[in-house]
Amino acid sequence: MNHPATEPGGHDPFVLLGGTIHDPANNRDGVVSDLWIEDGTIVAAPTDPSRFRRVDATGLVVMPGGVDLHSHVAGPKVNAGRRIAPHLARKPRTSSQPAAVPTIQSTGALYAALGYTTVFDAAIATGAAAIATLELAELPILDKGFYLLAADDADLLAALDAGDPAVIGRLIGDAVEQGGGWGVKVANPGGPTFWKQRRGDHRDLDTPLPGYGLTGRTLLERLARGVATTGLPHPLHIHTANLGLPGNWRTLAETMQTLDGIPAHLAHVQFHSYTGGELDADTFGSGVAELAAWFNSHEGLTLDVGQVLFGETVAMTGDSAAAEHLAHTTGVPWHSHDLWLEGGCGVLPITYKEKSLIHAWQWAIGLEWFLSVDDPWRLVLSTDHPNGAHFTAYPVLMQLLGDASFRRAAFERIHPAVRDRSPLADFDREYSLQELCIITRAAPARIAGLPDKGHLGLTADADITLYRPNDDLAAMFAMPAAVYKAGQLVAEAGQCRSLSPGRQLRALPTQ
Ligand SMILES: [Zn+2]
Repeated sequence: MNHPATEPGGHDPFVLLGGTIHDPANNRDGVVSDLWIEDGTIVAAPTDPSRFRRVDATGLVVMPGGVDLHSHVAGPKVNAGRRIAPHLARKPRTSSQPAAVPTIQSTGALYAALGYTTVFDAAIATGAAAIATLELAELPILDKGFYLLAADDADLLAALDAGDPAVIGRLIGDAVEQGGGWGVKVANPGGPTFWKQRRGDHRDLDTPLPGYGLTGRTLLERLARGVATTGLPHPLHIHTANLGLPGNWRTLAETMQTLDGIPAHLAHVQFHSYTGGELDADTFGSGVAELAAWFNSHEGLTLDVGQVLFGETVAMTGDSAAAEHLAHTTGVPWHSHDLWLEGGCGVLPITYKEKSLIHAWQWAIGLEWFLSVDDPWRLVLSTDHPNGAHFTAYPVLMQLLGDASFRRAAFERIHPAVRDRSPLADFDREYSLQELCIITRAAPARIAGLPDKGHLGLTADADITLYRPNDDLAAMFAMPAAVYKAGQLVAEAGQCRSLSPGRQLRALPTQ
């Protein structure tokens, strides 16, 4: 019988014996069982098990491979991030912190060593789809796809303005098929049109775009319906207007109300949940309570959080207006990549500090979201890598969710005004291992529209992560004992064992 540590790579059939299985999609919550793997998928127990190599998983926690629904790993903004913060990008792998914007090869290796086997880049301009596809081909191990910022294109904007569903659907389908994307993202609906005409960055959803009858609200509604009718596996992925601005919780509330009854996913809601009108201690705060109450009582929408964790990182977004605002607020240099008939992106370095009023609020607001959503199947763990934090910080976030005493100790270190006013101190909820499994695997796979991922049932991809149980959840999730991708051992105890290529995930529109 082999221990994972002595196992060679390869595609031979094998059985993981006696692991403690967390497979929420198949209602298995810590069940001791065997998993049979052949040809990269999970198969039924064979009548003749003799040709299956036996791998002892006794005492190990077994979960599906992680699925990152919202990250930034390829395309012009990621390369700009490497240029604008070279002091972060060059930080050696051997230090406790990896590069803020790793190379594409390191990105795959780091994700795999963390137990993740699928990743989506959340914002690729259609004009950058070809280069992003080439870059992602170089991202090893993981299966990977991207969402296209199709609504920034002049032809689709004109169609959304005219409002003919057939034309909108055809243009969405063409953009995804030709660009090789998995879905459609909108970043600041209509925002680039305002921004390029210097029309400010803070507005409601009902101001018509310059030169159009279309508003942010009608754009969202028509685009989300268009994506739904095009038969894409993932609904419209939405970064709504007024990201990062005080008082923007109202915009997110209106966005949710606008999309009631239409399939849609709300990205990095933490950055869209602020009260207040001015940046001062008395008015800036959390709008999560009202937003989460609405979200919990309306079942159609899903969200990811975009948690902020303290430390140095790089902000990068398809929302140039938000990047410009943040750069001017913080006084750092920024990079703007503009595309004439499309959107663009903005990139700048940022350091989140515990004693900063705003950063402490962002940290607390993100956690408040995690702890306020009733149904973990509608919520995805994200830091909007690298915007809120690096993806390698996910284990710390998992401990903040699963260990209330660890969370309280962290809470004691943040800005005192936030300690006084944030409701976070009142939350005793702790995520179970099963719930952590849902928000990092099962839910993102289901929301992405990947029926063979995020679970360990028959015919599922054999993307499997084994952990050594540990009360220190950050330590447990930071270093899986073994990670399998399509049945192949790819990482072990934090070290990559194979840089095999993953698959590119491309959606085929049905319309
Ligand atoms: Zn993002």
